[in-house]
Amino acid sequence: MVAVAVSRDTAPRLSALPIVGAALAVCLGYFIGANIGFILRLPPATPSILWPPNSILTATLLLAAPRRWWIYLLAALPAHLVAELPVLSPASLVYLLFATNCLEALIGATAVRILSDSPGSFDTLPRVSAFVVGAGLLGPFLSSFVDAWAVAELTHEPYWLVWQTRFFSNVLAELVLVPAIVFVARDAWARVRHARVMRRIEAALLGVALASVTVAYVAVPAAEARRLMLGSLDAPVAFFIPFVLWGTVRFGPAGASLSLLVTTLVMVWGATHGQGGFSVPPSSDSVLLLQISLAVSTIPILALAALIEERWRDRIALANRLRFEELLARLSGAFVHLASNRMDEVFQTWLGRLGEFLNVDRVMLFRLSEDGRVFTVSHEWAALGMAPMSTDNMSVSFPWSVRQLRREQPVVFRDAGELPEEARVDRESLEAMDITSNLALPLVAAGRVMGGLSLVTVKRRRSWPDETVGRMQLVAEVFANALARKVSEDALRSSELMKSAILASLNSSVAVLDGRGQIIEVNRVWERFTPDFNQSGGLEIGVGRNYLSLCREASRRGEAHAGDAAVGIEAVLEGRQAWFTFEYPAGAGTGERWYAMSVVPLHRMDGGAVVSNTDITERKRAELEAQRSRQELAHVTRVSAMGELTASLAHELNQPLTGILSNAQAARRLLEVAKPDLDELRSILRDIIDDDRRAADVIQRMRDLLRKSEPEMTLLDLNALVRDVRRLLGSDTVIRDVSIALDLDAGQAMVTGDRVQLEQVLLNLLLNAMEAMSEQPGADRTVVVRTRSSDGHTVLTSVEDSGPGLRHGTQQMVFEPFYTTKRTGMGMGLAIARSIIEAHGGSIWAENTGRGATFLFRLPLSPPGPA
Ligand code: ADP
Repeated sequence: MVAVAVSRDTAPRLSALPIVGAALAVCLGYFIGANIGFILRLPPATPSILWPPNSILTATLLLAAPRRWWIYLLAALPAHLVAELPVLSPASLVYLLFATNCLEALIGATAVRILSDSPGSFDTLPRVSAFVVGAGLLGPFLSSFVDAWAVAELTHEPYWLVWQTRFFSNVLAELVLVPAIVFVARDAWARVRHARVMRRIEAALLGVALASVTVAYVAVPAAEARRLMLGSLDAPVAFFIPFVLWGTVRFGPAGASLSLLVTTLVMVWGATHGQGGFSVPPSSDSVLLLQISLAVSTIPILALAALIEERWRDRIALANRLRFEELLARLSGAFVHLASNRMDEVFQTWLGRLGEFLNVDRVMLFRLSEDGRVFTVSHEWAALGMAPMSTDNMSVSFPWSVRQLRREQPVVFRDAGELPEEARVDRESLEAMDITSNLALPLVAAGRVMGGLSLVTVKRRRSWPDETVGRMQLVAEVFANALARKVSEDALRSSELMKSAILASLNSSVAVLDGRGQIIEVNRVWERFTPDFNQSGGLEIGVGRNYLSLCREASRRGEAHAGDAAVGIEAVLEGRQAWFTFEYPAGAGTGERWYAMSVVPLHRMDGGAVVSNTDITERKRAELEAQRSRQELAHVTRVSAMGELTASLAHELNQPLTGILSNAQAARRLLEVAKPDLDELRSILRDIIDDDRRAADVIQRMRDLLRKSEPEMTLLDLNALVRDVRRLLGSDTVIRDVSIALDLDAGQAMVTGDRVQLEQVLLNLLLNAMEAMSEQPGADRTVVVRTRSSDGHTVLTSVEDSGPGLRHGTQQMVFEPFYTTKRTGMGMGLAIARSIIEAHGGSIWAENTGRGATFLFRLPLSPPGPA
């Protein structure tokens, strides 16, 4: 049934045939029809029982465009004259009869054109009714008055008898012949060509059956037949009725009209030739009865055929709709979860399915460039044997169509000739490509025309019913959405690719965590090597694992830094901290390496963080190197400071040594007497020991300062430290005529630090202060050293001199390496002091006070240890 529906659409129409050929066919048909009419006549009556020529004219006019009617009517004239002039006289009657024949056809065809929406079709009840009323009744009815008048005038036959005979014979002829002729002229070939084998066989069987009944009917003599059929006139028809119904039920209006035609011809032939149930010659009453009964039974059969056809069509339409809906459902389903990189392939497949479903020759998908200028074929399907289209810019070959699509308008035409004048370029391109019909729809997604979907037929017309256009609009919608998704996914993928490339190119190992700390992405470095504190635990830290939990677990197992990492990551994930960094050593296998972990938040709806571990071993080495150099330098500076103190140290040592010497001499003198005073002697020895200790102390301090040792952090009393340094400088103060006043915090001033380094700082500050005051008058040469731990967390030490103060704007600069204003200065003392204080977690700065310069440093207080 589908094939039938399609063949209807694609079958060539009569108007497409060369007009001359059609005119000749009409002429020939008319001639044959007239001769058949003569055969089916009961002489001496002029009108035939069944007169085909009029019906041939009616059928022709129903098929032809009204503007060509005159051609076909004229074409019939020679046939009419040739057929009738020898038989009828006078000649004027022949001409008059031609006029009445034409009149009948004209009235009938015009009436049908007015009453029917499709004059050449008998496939719906309204169309059949229009045909029966217009061509079957009205045409013969009106024309028969003129005809009867002409015949009665010229042959003197009774007017009403002629009218009656002509009317009924023409009604029968119109009803039986016109549908059959229209079908044969228009559809028969295409129907046979497109029919399936089984239908062809069935049609042939029906033909054979009808032929057999005909032969049987014709072969039986009238008398025998009458005996067999008990004298009934109608009975012979009964033999044909099953076959007529077969044709009607199985082949619709075509089957009905052809089987009715055969039946009628046989019946009428039988009646005129005394065959079947007819006596020779039958009475005019029985002929009339035959005509009426045949005509009357034709009408319900045609109506039945139309109803059956309508039902078929409805079924086909329903089946088509179901097929389409299924197709659409599968089409939308095909794109729902499809990755964009597979879309090309699926577009291709579906273009093919659509093409086959709609029986078109090409289906194309166009893409409109971003700037809206270039319209190119992106996917194409072509029926077997069709060459692919060029993929040039369609805007050039089809400017009008592209404009329409860009305006979101469809381009629909059955024939390129229907295109408006402004589409001239399009028409020419279509002709060059042999494209006859087209349905092109814009692909619109998110308010933007993304391209178009076009279905075309090559060298054959195809109409595009609204229903098809509507359905294809749904398809276009699915394609447009899929295309839009592809575009955005492609863009996303390329940006993702970019991100992955960046991630992959990083030397740090990077992991992306979700809001709960689960790893959702890692880069290659991370996969290769995870510099983590839980390496020893042998845990695999990959995508899907919860990094936070892993750190906590490692921390519980005693991994040194895992706990710190967990706390920091959690703080960032919870948004309590904007970022978190820390450095940690990891010492497995290849020797100790250092890493810096940095955690930054991931700015997205579900939160998350990016953890990166960067190998900072080299930087750390450089730092350690620098620290070592600083220590070297500090040592050198200390040595040079000691150099400066040589005189004072000599003096410092001189004192106890001189004391020891004089005490020893005194003791010797005491021993020279007979009875030495032992108490005196003991006191002298005590002094000697004291002096020796003092000298040893001085030497010890000197050795401490000169020693090159690794820093050793211990708990120190800063106040005691200040006193020691002052003692070291004791002699120097005397030499320089300077006094060092102490104003120490009464409470504890405990700090954690390296004794030698902190002594160096104090020594440096005091030496600088003493030096600064060298130009000052003697009374003003006082350095005040203060310690204060007022805030409870830190201890502030200040060294305040009464020198000239710092030069303007040099408060920061004095701490820079190699800054010096002294002729023999090195400019490293304060720079080293700063690095020492900072290494102890403190800070140092300088300011000018009213008296001179004050250097201050603050160190964190340490709670006194158990020792
Ligand atoms: P040096 O003593 O070798 O010059 P320092 O780093 O100890 O190196 O001092 C740098 C400079 O800071 C000194 O040259 C001096 O100009 C200035 N300075 C340091 N202490 C004082 C001070 N108490 N009063 C004035 N200037 C000072």
